[in-house]
Amino acid sequence: MYHRIPAVELIWRSFLSPTRRKFLTATAAFAAALSVSAPLVVAAPSELLARTRKRRVVIVGGGWGGLAAARRLRDLAPDLEIVLIERNAEFWSCPLSNKWLAGFIDEALLVHDYKRAAAAYGYTFVQAAATEIDRDARRVLTDKGTLGYDWLILAVGIRNNYEAWYGDDYRAAAYTREHYPCAYVPGDEFRAIKHKLDSFAGGDLVMTLPPAPYRCPPSPYERACLIAWLLKSRGIKGKLTVIDPNPAALAFQRTFDAFPDQLGYLPQSAIKSVDPFNRKIVTEFDEVRFDDAILMPPQQAGDLVRQAGLLARAGHDQGWADLDPLHLHARADERIFLVGDLAGSVSPLFGSYPKSGHMAAALGRIAAAEIAARAHDQPPPQLLPESICHVFTSFDPPETTRFHTSYHLRGDGLVAQASDQKHDPNPRDEDVRWLKSQFADFLAD
Ligand SMILES: Cc1cc2nc3c(=O)[nH]c(=O)nc-3n(C[C@H](O)[C@H](O)[C@H](O)COP(=O)(O)OP(=O)(O)OC[C@H]3O[C@@H](n4cnc5c(N)ncnc54)[C@H](O)[C@@H]3O)c2cc1C
Repeated sequence: MYHRIPAVELIWRSFLSPTRRKFLTATAAFAAALSVSAPLVVAAPSELLARTRKRRVVIVGGGWGGLAAARRLRDLAPDLEIVLIERNAEFWSCPLSNKWLAGFIDEALLVHDYKRAAAAYGYTFVQAAATEIDRDARRVLTDKGTLGYDWLILAVGIRNNYEAWYGDDYRAAAYTREHYPCAYVPGDEFRAIKHKLDSFAGGDLVMTLPPAPYRCPPSPYERACLIAWLLKSRGIKGKLTVIDPNPAALAFQRTFDAFPDQLGYLPQSAIKSVDPFNRKIVTEFDEVRFDDAILMPPQQAGDLVRQAGLLARAGHDQGWADLDPLHLHARADERIFLVGDLAGSVSPLFGSYPKSGHMAAALGRIAAAEIAARAHDQPPPQLLPESICHVFTSFDPPETTRFHTSYHLRGDGLVAQASDQKHDPNPRDEDVRWLKSQFADFLAD
């Protein structure tokens, strides 16, 4: 499906960058003064940073993948200039955000300063929204100017694909984003959801899940358990209905069963239509009405992957980036590396890597090693990632499950996956320690 909203938004934002706004205002004033219709001449966007003699790696996206790549590149290739472009002013961690929603940890653990990390490791941080990749000219266009690159790492994460529900009804998408945000992308939606939960006085709450593949598969179930626990512990007369198009989440069933009055679970329920204005969702089997909601639409690779023409075109993998499974460069462009949740299938044996922060950071480090090897005319390394995810399966009493996946290369050249789950009935903040060790590595915090 062709996604018109982001393209229009991106072009519009880039067109109205401060420089262009000034230029257009000046042009309009000039035309008015002369009382003639001046042809609209658009100035070429300015370079954000002067080129030095150093070859340059531009990283778009300051999430788990982009930050880990920046740090590792700095270590492996001090001779390269590294520029990280991120649209948000501060880093926000999705991992452990569920725990924060329930008030178990402080916001300070999740929010971090980009400039500090850049200064500590010695790369350049630019707060800007990238709007376009010009692959022929090897340039990134942003709302603040352009940047040439020798190698590019795209680590822009995911986008919420509201078009899958609403087609080109942008009003419905905007309304949903404003009133029923899902908080699956770093940014303000997390605070909006916390406010929603803290002020929820009762009634029918609904949460939809995206169909797989999506970011951090266990996390919506963790969030559902937590909301049920909040309702119960706060004595709120309300019920959360979870509409899940995927097979039943067996690891969470016991916790779901512990909240019969607070939680209803509808697995294998593909969504047929969502009406955010009349607060109604129709699935293959049910019609669910709600007073308030957390609406997660299907997910896809972030916008720039599509704009740059780097999406897989066919099959189950449509909507996700098409990359070389071992070296992580785009199949269509060896100068561009694709890192993190945006990645599509890497193996016919299991599909895509789990979309987790741990995995995104591991992929970022591998892409850094690949670029360093190329820059130094060395053979590329053969590295495979792993993923670790700690999830609360019960809040009272606290119990966690550790999901671990590792990878090896089979004799036939395919990447194979091994996974295990470890239940921990006596958690001692292993998740917090894990988070802090990651941040110590790539945020210098
Ligand atoms: C509720 C929740 C709980 C989770 N729990 C865990 C967990 O316990 N463990 C775990 O390992 N993972 C967890 N995850 C998953 C983890 O957050 C993601 O897998 C991880 O963030 C992916 O990293 P990324 O770099 O691919 O994307 P992101 O971290 O989303 O980073 C992408 C960055 O790119 C920026 N960006 C996007 N487009 C542009 C643009 N055009 N211009 C400039 N910047 C742009 C975005 O602002 C963002 O900062 C959880 C996720 C959620 C939502």
